[in-house]
Amino acid sequence: MMRSPVPKGRVRVLNDASPQNRDYILYWMTSFRRAKSNFALDRAIELAKQMKRPLLVLEALRVGYEFANDRLHTFVLEGMHDNERAFQDSAVKYLPYVERKVGEGKGLMEALVKRACIVVGDDWPCFFVPKMQQALAARIDCRFEVVDSNGLYPMHDTPRVFTTAHSFRVHLQKVLPAHLMQFPTEHPLSRLELPTFDAPLPKQWKFGLDVAVADLPIDHSVPAVPIPGGSAAAEKRLAHFISKILPTYADSRNEPELDGTSALSPYLHFGHLSTHQVFTEVVGTEKWSVEKLGPSIGGAKEGWWQLSPHAEGYLDQLVTWRELSFNMTSHRPDDYRSLDELPDYARETIAKHAKDVRKVTYTLKQLEEGRTHDRLWNAAMGQLRETGWFHNYLRMLWGKKIYEWSKSAADALHAMEYLMGKYSIDGRDPISYSGYFWILGRYDRAWGPEREVFGTLRYMSSDNTAKKLDVKKYMDRFAPENGSLF
Ligand SMILES: Cc1cc2nc3c(=O)[nH]c(=O)nc-3n(C[C@H](O)[C@H](O)[C@H](O)COP(=O)(O)OP(=O)(O)OC[C@H]3O[C@@H](n4cnc5c(N)ncnc54)[C@H](O)[C@@H]3O)c2cc1C
Repeated sequence: MMRSPVPKGRVRVLNDASPQNRDYILYWMTSFRRAKSNFALDRAIELAKQMKRPLLVLEALRVGYEFANDRLHTFVLEGMHDNERAFQDSAVKYLPYVERKVGEGKGLMEALVKRACIVVGDDWPCFFVPKMQQALAARIDCRFEVVDSNGLYPMHDTPRVFTTAHSFRVHLQKVLPAHLMQFPTEHPLSRLELPTFDAPLPKQWKFGLDVAVADLPIDHSVPAVPIPGGSAAAEKRLAHFISKILPTYADSRNEPELDGTSALSPYLHFGHLSTHQVFTEVVGTEKWSVEKLGPSIGGAKEGWWQLSPHAEGYLDQLVTWRELSFNMTSHRPDDYRSLDELPDYARETIAKHAKDVRKVTYTLKQLEEGRTHDRLWNAAMGQLRETGWFHNYLRMLWGKKIYEWSKSAADALHAMEYLMGKYSIDGRDPISYSGYFWILGRYDRAWGPEREVFGTLRYMSSDNTAKKLDVKKYMDRFAPENGSLF
């Protein structure tokens, strides 16, 4: 694939301030936490070269955000250690910072900006990141650009918000080929030459990774899990996926008892791995090149890439479904969490059935502890609680049951946000919201027969799931104590 300058359509300027004639370019790495295949890093390097300035990369980890806990901190810190190694001996100065007390990092960005010509950030449209960046942009006196390195299709290439995966596929089949010619630099630090960083750093903050998670003021009730964080672990898992799982992905992806999917979502969420890297490896197994793309085929799921059904099935998740989530969150920053943004049929049927008697309801605590009457659901919750990740098919069932057992759609949404936000390494992501809102009817259609509580929302039952999939060992492992399925 051709390497090129950072495409203009991936860069947004957040304020009106001009570049300043000062000491360095500052890249504030918040979401694409990696030293390769990263358009934001490419842009920062591009500016450093143009302005003949050193490049400073700040990667920070706050303690005061919602859900900060041992699990998330450990995963992110492992990534920061990898980045420290990756930037070591390079022409770029890497500055890791971990907050020790809530609010301790306040003022750090402003202090670093005082000597910066331009600030570059990651354009990632979810959780607290956009608001934090906008707040900084309004306060500083130099230009602040954010760069989109989320996926193959730049989020702001179109103003359109897609309401179905099908319409998004139709669109992608027309416009994506041009973007497949523009990839981030695979190894941007290799043979890179920039002026040496020698500016003084503010003394008020203690930089470096010499911290113990146990000493930090975060939630210690959610322990670290064996999924290792960082780009090295991500690439190892990617290699395993390509050689062992991708060749049968279409058959294995719906089987919770198998290691049958990529399990790369935690790495994609924290930016330890890029979609471009994954895409390159997937298509590389079939000696694919962009010339092989078929003509637009009206949004059909398979056949456009001209790859095996396994690779096509995988790319439909990684590209169509994942980037559909980014389309929504980036274009509706204030509404993507709002029930008012559901399609008409979903809002109407939810309203019509709002007062239906729920046969059973559970408190958030009962859900969190996996103490429902439904053993398969408890197992799914057990996998999430214990491992920090769970299987897509069971996420669908998990969410549908939460809706069934909640007093309202708003309560169901709150429960999903809380449980995933707290326990899932890949939670708090644009995909989290397309998942929760899919449960409530987004990207879906009305289904009959109309039922109590669900109305015409798609219904799922644990009974059918247990008939369709092998889940016995799964339940024995993650919900050993409840005796029956219902
Ligand atoms: C209620 C609910 C909540 C969800 N919450 C999250 C979440 O917080 N974070 C998250 O990353 N995913 C979420 N998903 C989507 C999906 O379940 C996970 O992305 C997937 O299970 C991750 O496993 P994997 O990496 O092995 O996926 P693979 O099958 O290997 O798929 C490849 C990649 O495609 C993307 N992808 C897969 N399934 C979907 C999907 N349904 N929608 C959009 N993108 C998808 C992911 O980036 C994934 O890594 C949720 C789904 C539901 C139904």
